[in-house]
Amino acid sequence: MGSGLPMEGKAETMYLLQYGQEPVPKRISVRGAGKELLWEPIIGIVVKTTIGWVLLESGIGRQVLDDAEALKVLYPGEDKPWGLSGDPLTTALAGVGLTVSDIKLAAVSHLHCDHSGGVPKLAGAGVPICIQREELEFALERASTVDGYYPADFVRAADWRELDGDAEIAPGIHALSTPGHAPGHMSYRVDLHQSGPWLFAVDAADLGENFIDRKPPGQTVLPGDVVRAEASLDRLLDESKRLNARLVPGHDQLFWTAIRHPLGGYH
Ligand SMILES: [Zn+2]
Repeated sequence: MGSGLPMEGKAETMYLLQYGQEPVPKRISVRGAGKELLWEPIIGIVVKTTIGWVLLESGIGRQVLDDAEALKVLYPGEDKPWGLSGDPLTTALAGVGLTVSDIKLAAVSHLHCDHSGGVPKLAGAGVPICIQREELEFALERASTVDGYYPADFVRAADWRELDGDAEIAPGIHALSTPGHAPGHMSYRVDLHQSGPWLFAVDAADLGENFIDRKPPGQTVLPGDVVRAEASLDRLLDESKRLNARLVPGHDQLFWTAIRHPLGGYH
């Protein structure tokens, strides 16, 4: 920087967060894979923009982590997810010097239980939350623990900002419609001054392997949605080529450990 160029259209600083980790049979992450258990990170991204800090993804919440009955359905194996101590969202933000009251806007890719956990805290702090209208309607009307949802996180009132497809949600942050894994799933593009464009697939591709082998997620909430899941994977691959963007899978521990470290965040 130092060129005096205007800041609009780009975000300033980005930190990558990890709220916890969950046991996932690989065949859930990658279509056609085996049953071996992967420990996958539960991630978040917090971005400083000209309108303030924007949180992408809210992680897993203390309530579901302590709800043994719900966990039996959501994680039917012997192993259960863990989260950061106390309230995982609060603890993760504290790790980069932030509190929930610093957040001006939030977004959730979809409302599976490993993504909805911070919604009550955000709603309580009056933070508007972007979501695709299709996902919110599905979650409120039809979703249950059998589909991977934990309704206690999202049934109470929140300041939802419903999106219908792609949208620039803040300067330098775009939501990209990538349905399939969940009915109204979305991914994100973050444009930074120094490191350029980043594409966060979230659950449109859990692992690097999904992209390398062009294999969609192993599970879709709606049985017929594998076609949309494949189209979403292709869309992210195409966008990453077009933009020369870093393409980041949503639940790849090796990848996340490798990239989340820089002190002071990414610029
Ligand atoms: Zn999911």
